[in-house]
Amino acid sequence: VASTPPQQTSTPYDTVKVDLSSGRDYPIYIGSDFTDTEAATLIRQHIHGKRVLLITNDRIAPLYLERYQQLLSDNSVDDKELVVDTVVLPDGEENKTYDVMAMVLDKALGLGLDRKSTFVALGGGVIGDMVGFASAVYQRGVNFVQIPTTVMAMVDSSVGGKTGVNHPLGKNMIGAFHQPQCVFIDTSTLNTLPDRELKSGISEVVKYGLIRDAPFFEWQEENMTKLLERDPEATRYAIRRSCENKADVVQADELEAGVRATLNLGHTFGHAIENGSGYGTWLHGEGVSIGTAMAATMSEKMGWIDEGLKQRIYDILESADLPVKLPRDSPMKVETFNKLMSLDKKVADGQLRLILLQGELGNCKFTGEFDTGALQETIEEFVK
Ligand code: NAD
Ligand code: MG
Repeated sequence: VASTPPQQTSTPYDTVKVDLSSGRDYPIYIGSDFTDTEAATLIRQHIHGKRVLLITNDRIAPLYLERYQQLLSDNSVDDKELVVDTVVLPDGEENKTYDVMAMVLDKALGLGLDRKSTFVALGGGVIGDMVGFASAVYQRGVNFVQIPTTVMAMVDSSVGGKTGVNHPLGKNMIGAFHQPQCVFIDTSTLNTLPDRELKSGISEVVKYGLIRDAPFFEWQEENMTKLLERDPEATRYAIRRSCENKADVVQADELEAGVRATLNLGHTFGHAIENGSGYGTWLHGEGVSIGTAMAATMSEKMGWIDEGLKQRIYDILESADLPVKLPRDSPMKVETFNKLMSLDKKVADGQLRLILLQGELGNCKFTGEFDTGALQETIEEFVK
């Protein structure tokens, strides 16, 4: 992991490259306050056909849709003749469904879009995951571009090619791996993001430090206030460093045969909490935050990390104003955890596997070999 200090923001934007084993690579552009022409020039380089379908939701549409539709259709910046149509989907995790995703396919077919078309996702992780999935299956796969507008999407979901939708029996249960042509991040879109969503995204930033980047974790311990205040330099640095970490992991293991699973620290517990509490109760990053606290607690119970490190994990999550426990009236019970966790995609041959912390800060382990007693004790402690 490169560790260039955050002061170097004199360049107009940063580029993080994702180098895939397939030989294909793609850039993540990270900057703020791009002019329309700069944005158009950068993004249009990665659009090869003539037709673009720009997809967002009804919450983001009034804020950013017109701008992006206009700049993407600005044919004066290069010699392409692009036509940009739009789709506006209903907002919300509860709409991350097969049926809502199919509205994109219906629109594309209705417009007669061919295999050379490009889908562009403008929004958070929900839009990115659904549009990515629609691009993976539309005519067996079309190009797509990610324009993430939440911290969660900028640091995590827009990078790495996991796409999909939820099923009533589980989150992200239907999906595909499909990599974008580029990711375009304008951090100024975060100015309209609600605080709660901002903090939710920070839980994934904390994750990178814990699983593989101790210096980044230490930087966050010093700079959390700046991140919460949306300081542009700190924000850009945290996003870049997160994307570098995610790119490193995805490059090593694009299809999640091994190390990529470590990006799911806190997620097995977190997904159970998100699902079992009813959609809308917890944001993804909030579930991950409680899940990370559970992973830390369980790791400490097994003697894999010391009490001091466990405390630092709780401290950093609390400094980001993220939840580290379930409320008293939570519907989560021991049985709910056990049932929902057994549905996790990391279950192999009936055996649950978890990402736990082990050793010094920045080290973790993806394993099915853990003390099941410590797991049950941890769950009991959290549902109490
Ligand atoms: P989200 O997409 O629901 O966005 C959160 C809310 O903020 C929504 O209401 C959205 O409309 C709104 N919003 C988005 N950008 C805005 C802006 N700039 N200003 C104002 N409002 C804005 O949620 P999310 O946290 O971005 O993403 C969560 C989803 O991402 C989950 O479904 C999760 O499973 C998925 N995810 C996927 C991956 C992956 O690798 N594919 C990784 C992490 C998370
Ligand atoms: Mg996540």
